[in-house]
Amino acid sequence: SLTLSKKASGVKPSSTLAITAKAKAMKAEGIDVVGFGAGEPDFNTPENINEAAIKAIKDGFTKYTPASGTEELKKAVCAKFESFNGLHYEPNQIVISNGGKHSLTNIFEAILNPGDEVIIPAPYWLTYPEIVKLSDGIPVVVYGSKENGYKVTAQQIRNAVTENTKALILNSPSNPTGMIYSEEELRAIAEVAVEKDFYVVADEMYEYLIYGEKKHISIASLGDEIYKRTITCSGVSKSYAMTGWRIGYTGSSVEIAKLMSSVQSHQTSNPNSIAQKAALEALSGDQSAVAAMKVEFNKRRQYMYERIAKMPLLDLLEPEGAFYVFIDFTDVLEKSYKGQKIGTAARAAEILLEEYKVAVVPCADFGFDNFIRLSYAISLEAIEKGLDRIENFVSSL
Ligand code: PLP
Repeated sequence: SLTLSKKASGVKPSSTLAITAKAKAMKAEGIDVVGFGAGEPDFNTPENINEAAIKAIKDGFTKYTPASGTEELKKAVCAKFESFNGLHYEPNQIVISNGGKHSLTNIFEAILNPGDEVIIPAPYWLTYPEIVKLSDGIPVVVYGSKENGYKVTAQQIRNAVTENTKALILNSPSNPTGMIYSEEELRAIAEVAVEKDFYVVADEMYEYLIYGEKKHISIASLGDEIYKRTITCSGVSKSYAMTGWRIGYTGSSVEIAKLMSSVQSHQTSNPNSIAQKAALEALSGDQSAVAAMKVEFNKRRQYMYERIAKMPLLDLLEPEGAFYVFIDFTDVLEKSYKGQKIGTAARAAEILLEEYKVAVVPCADFGFDNFIRLSYAISLEAIEKGLDRIENFVSSL
């Protein structure tokens, strides 16, 4: 019969991409929309990285590479894990994939069997439950509280563990909250993972983007037992403004790396050869562009936080990393707009886009119904204009 896959039909299309697309379409019609939806830096890829890619093309580095990536890039990833994360991996523990999202997909393909449960702390990046389901896993959501910076505690994780628990996803710095887990919190979580014997999928995609005094800590660096159980995942997309290049990577046990590599060899053969040369330059070349982007992000973060904190009806915590602010809209949802109760964050986002020309991301798909995520990966000028509009909206209610 012509029925379609139940698994594929059960996947929610990415709502962040949909909102970004709608805002782009309005812009194309000449409407002056401020887009706070972006999950990517507005900066150009640094020039040294572009040059490395151009050189790769000119040198004819345009053929298949080993399925799990080139040896030279794996070595550069090992060097970065060693110096930045305090983690020792050998090249045979590294898999280079087509972006962080692909790395995560491969991880779950490698570790899950039907019915395995994966604990996902909410608010979560909306892709996690979908890729777990695509690998026949069952997402088990645990909710962070405001008091704990929207993070989950080790005790909450312990309470969610069953005999089917296979893994926990830990995302620090977090998309959408921008919060980071401290060493103490990670140690407590690691203890549960070791005791209950499950994997930790550590998504550290935003590891370079931490502002202020706190440092990024990789959970795998906290001892041999947790190292064995962790798959550390990162990539060049966010830190090096390389979202379109599609390079992500993992450090894991050799066994997991082998499985990921076999899966990948049939799905995509290998990551793009030219992008691998670009990623090599990103990781091992001049790092000054990264530092400059971080300074800029930090200015925007401070500006966003200070202004929104003063707006009526909105509540937020000061984000510590990534490039998002996560705003509690509960009090806005209680209000009426043109005689009708606003009710949902999706409706608030619709009003903001249609009437105030500001694109924001409602967070129901992130597991937090009453919240809105704003990205500050846009210019300070656009942020000012967009926040003026949001302020006009909330002040009018
Ligand atoms: N992990 C998190 C938390 C993200 O926010 C993203 C991108 O939005 C990714 C992973 C994936 O990044 P990539 O573009 O490399 O697939």
